[in-house]
Amino acid sequence: MEKQTKTVRTSQKISDAYGALNMPVYNSAAYGFPSAKAMADAFVGRTDSPTYSRVSNPTVAYFEERVAQLSGAKHVFAFNSGMAAISCTLFALAASGKNIVTSAHLFGNTVSLLTNTLGRFGVETRFVDLLDSEAVANAIDDNTACVFLEIITNPQLEVVDIQSLSSITKKRNIPLVADTTIIPFTQFSAEALGVDIEVLSSTKYISGGATTLGGLVLDYGNFPQLYRYMKFELLYNIGSYMTPQVAFMQTLGLETLDMRYRTQANNALELARRLKQVPEIIDVNYVGLSDNVFHTLAKAQFGGTFGAMLTIDLEDKQHAFAFIDNLKLISRATNLFDSKSLAIHPASTIFGAFAGSQRRAMNVRDNTVRLSIGLEDVKDLYDDIVQAVKASN
Ligand SMILES: *Cc1c(COP(=O)(O)O)cnc(C)c1O
Repeated sequence: MEKQTKTVRTSQKISDAYGALNMPVYNSAAYGFPSAKAMADAFVGRTDSPTYSRVSNPTVAYFEERVAQLSGAKHVFAFNSGMAAISCTLFALAASGKNIVTSAHLFGNTVSLLTNTLGRFGVETRFVDLLDSEAVANAIDDNTACVFLEIITNPQLEVVDIQSLSSITKKRNIPLVADTTIIPFTQFSAEALGVDIEVLSSTKYISGGATTLGGLVLDYGNFPQLYRYMKFELLYNIGSYMTPQVAFMQTLGLETLDMRYRTQANNALELARRLKQVPEIIDVNYVGLSDNVFHTLAKAQFGGTFGAMLTIDLEDKQHAFAFIDNLKLISRATNLFDSKSLAIHPASTIFGAFAGSQRRAMNVRDNTVRLSIGLEDVKDLYDDIVQAVKASN
């Protein structure tokens, strides 16, 4: 079946009592059983009958099943945020005395999770330049729990060579974990590039118009301890499983995901090309531009689309703030891949808690504005950006 068909039609394991065409929202904390034996079987995992909605729920399981069919993942776990998905993945793989090899160019809360939260529990994080294979190979030792990367870093927009990293991790039998939030799994196969475990924020493209928070872990089955810890320990102990109302909305989002994504990515490319010609904009950073240093690699890895996030550099922080204040159509908001376009100044918001020197080390600059491109007509977005740039000069 073609992917576009799969995004709207997925076979249901158990048919609904009334033949509902949308999986109903099962707002029930617990589930009844016909016998003690049936209950025991469900609790130890011999059957997949739901027991308690902290660890299993039919509406969430249906969402997970649809993601599995689209992505080819062996197991899918849905959480109530992207950060919960990332946290539980690292809780499953790491332990006190172990280390994680990654880049300092990561989503801000992921950096904090690694250095602060996991750091307090004795997990060391080794920040290296993931573009430098030798540095990665040297950072790995017998206590390395995983190598963690983001496919296109936010807001630096760097792209690592995933296959080259995976040849290193495969040799050492270490899981390669990728945060693939920026480009959906309907567009490229992370597994084919050598990724073992995919994590992503479904708050972004999948929720469909930014209705709800959510996160996903896509397990390709190469490291069975992930499934064991998730299924029989972390869902129970951390309690951050997705809720049924959210799963219902995100299932609807999934049906239009690929269509919406393609339109947004095309809008971003068209806009980036046109903004390059605006003299007041010092630089436009978007990997879809053919003169971008990561363009060829990104094209080979992600199948020809480049996400819907771009950044523009203005003269300085003052100009960046004035530009944001002068926007009339684009919303001043965080988040990515809403249907509406959004603008934010990353250095003073998402990275506001970091010291100036830390921001410089992460290459988060004061004159950069991040734009998440939505479903509006490109002409209106271009006009809004140009009028705001001119008004701020
Ligand atoms: C937003 C985001 C996250 C966190 O997801 P939440 O759903 O907000 O918890 C993680 N990684 C990346 C790349 C993101 O953009």
